[in-house]
Amino acid sequence: MAALSWPLAHNTIRRQVKNNAFGNVRNGGTRPHQGWDLYAPLFTPCYAIADGKIEWARPRGDLGNLVLLRFEHGRQIYWAAYAHLGVIFPAEGALIARNEPIALTGTTGNAASMSGDDLHLHFEIRTMPFPGNGLGGRVDPALLYGYAPIGSTIVQTRGESRTASGVKGLLVPGVNVLEGP
Ligand SMILES: [Zn+2]
Repeated sequence: MAALSWPLAHNTIRRQVKNNAFGNVRNGGTRPHQGWDLYAPLFTPCYAIADGKIEWARPRGDLGNLVLLRFEHGRQIYWAAYAHLGVIFPAEGALIARNEPIALTGTTGNAASMSGDDLHLHFEIRTMPFPGNGLGGRVDPALLYGYAPIGSTIVQTRGESRTASGVKGLLVPGVNVLEGP
């Protein structure tokens, strides 16, 4: 089973608080957040976390410009959702390779007022393409990645830098460096 890549080059939960990770983490534990908010300055490149197919690549409600990438992992089918995007690269139906750039982050949908340290990619792992509100039809991304990067930054190298680093899971103070493809 191929490892998943992380969606950004530098992956860390916005403001390092669990309210911006997955679960019933908002309004004192009464309101759900369906994914991770990964801090990202405006127009940060987003990458395919796995080989898969683009099943949605246009605006959708509060999520703004949304990409849904359908992929298989551990014999399960999932959809990675990338939301509030500024620019989307692939067309719907495109077949995408892991680590291919697919979008630039933005402030579309209900992220329009975000700025500074709140700029982010909203990232979900779904078990169906279009679940409703609440947490149903999603899983905690930490289930697939092992943990949420709160208080740490996961640096995902890709392509040529894989050879340069040649290491897997190297722990650098404050930063985890994972190998590329
Ligand atoms: Zn969010």
